[in-house]
Amino acid sequence: MLNDPIPPHVDPRKLADRGTTLQGELLLANLERLCDPLSDNVGTVQAKFVFERDERKAVVIHSFIDTEVKMVCQRCLELVTLPIHSECSYAVVKEGANTQSLPSGYDVLELGEDPLDLQALIEEELLLALPIVPAHQPEECQQPAGADEPEPSEDEVTRSNPFSVLAQLKRDPNV
Ligand SMILES: [Zn+2]
Repeated sequence: MLNDPIPPHVDPRKLADRGTTLQGELLLANLERLCDPLSDNVGTVQAKFVFERDERKAVVIHSFIDTEVKMVCQRCLELVTLPIHSECSYAVVKEGANTQSLPSGYDVLELGEDPLDLQALIEEELLLALPIVPAHQPEECQQPAGADEPEPSEDEVTRSNPFSVLAQLKRDPNV
C-alpha cells in the first residue's frame, strides 16, 4: 500500500505484518519543538516509513524524511535555507526487552501497548538532523569564509606602518 497519508499514531506491529509503506506530507508548523530554533515555520515535511519484519520476525521501520528549513547563518547573520534529510532504521522492541541481540545499525524503539506517535518520531529525527552551526555554502554566504579568523591582514600591516615610521623619525637626529 503506497502513499497512504501519514496518520499521527500507528500500530507498527500491524503495519509490519502487512508490509505497509506510509508516505505523506505534514506541515512544519505542526512540529512546534522543531520550529523553535527555526526562523519561520512555513513549509512541509515529506516523510516515508517502511514497516516490515526482518528475518528474525522483529518489527523494523525504515524512515526517510526530507524538508527545508530557514535558519540564521552564523557567519553572515542572514537567513539561510537548508535542506534537511534524515534516514533511520528502527527495531521495535517491547518495553524493557533485551536489546543486545539486535543487529547493529538499528535504533531501538521501545514500545508498549500504546500506538507509535509518528509525528513525534519525525520531529525527533529532524531535530537531530539540524545543523549545530547553520551556515550558507561558502560561495553563497555574504561573509566570505575565513574572514572572521585571526590572520594577519593587510589592514594590520598598514596600521602598524605609521608608528614604525614615526619611531624611525624620532630616532633620527637629523629630522
Ligand atoms: Zn551566510
